Amino acid sequence: MTPRPPPDDAARAPERVTVRRPRVGVLSLQGDFGRHAASLEALGATAVRVVLPADLEGLDALVMPGGESTTMLRLMEANGLRTPLEAFVRERPVLGTCAGVILLAREADRLPAPTLGALDVGVGRNAYGRQIDSFEAELEASALGGPFTGVFIRAPRIVRVGPGVEVVARHGAEPVGVRQGRIVGLCFHPELTSDLRFHRWFLGAVAGLAVPAPRPGGARVPEIAAAHASTIAMTPATSATGAIPAPPGGRA
Ligand code: GLN
Repeated sequence: MTPRPPPDDAARAPERVTVRRPRVGVLSLQGDFGRHAASLEALGATAVRVVLPADLEGLDALVMPGGESTTMLRLMEANGLRTPLEAFVRERPVLGTCAGVILLAREADRLPAPTLGALDVGVGRNAYGRQIDSFEAELEASALGGPFTGVFIRAPRIVRVGPGVEVVARHGAEPVGVRQGRIVGLCFHPELTSDLRFHRWFLGAVAGLAVPAPRPGGARVPEIAAAHASTIAMTPATSATGAIPAPPGGRA
C-alpha cells in the first residue's frame, strides 16, 4: 500500500516565529529581589539582576523590591546607580513594592538621601508599626477586577495621592496600590504569594510587554510559609559580582 502524502499543513516547514522574551530588571541591592525574579521568570520574562549602572542597559522594565529603603538608598549612591535610575524611571515602566514605593515616591520621611520622586505620592514609612505588626489582608484590587491577598511587612502608608495618580488597590478605604502612567507602587508584597496577577498586569497592561495568557495550573511560583516571608523580604543581598558593600549599620 502506498503511504498517503501528508496533508498540506504538515508538509510545510514550520514557520519560525521569534517572540523576544521581555528583559525585566530587578534592583538587587538588598531585600527580596529573588522572589520578584522568580515571579517574572514564571511569566516568561528574563529577569536581570540590577546591581550596577551597566545592568540597566536594554531593559524593558524594572522592579524595585521590598527590603529596607534606607539601606537601598545608601547602596544606590555607593554603586553609582542614582543618576542612571533617575533617568530610567523617567522613561521606562517601573514596579515598586513596599520599600520600592518609598524609593519612587515624591515624599517620604526619615531617609538618608532624596527619593527618586517618580510617583506623585507621599508615604509614611513603617506607618503600620513594627515588624511584629506585619499582617495579611484581603484587598480590593481594581487593577485586577477583584480581591487580592496583600502581605504587609513594616509597610509604608500612602498619605497623599497626587492628581494624576490612579488608585489600583485599596485596603478598606485606604490606598495601598497606585499607578501613574508607567509607574506602579504597591505597599504590599505580591512576590511573597504564589499569585502572579499583579506581575502579569504590570508586564502586560502597564508595560505593554508580551506575556502568555493565564492557563489553569499554568505559571506559578511556590508558596512560602508566612513565617518566612518577612525574613526573606528583609534579607541583605549577597552579590554575584561582589560589588555590593555590606548594609551600613545592618537592618533598621
Ligand atoms: N520598612 C521598610 C522601609 O522603610 C520597608 C519594608 C518592606 O519593604 N517590607 O524601607
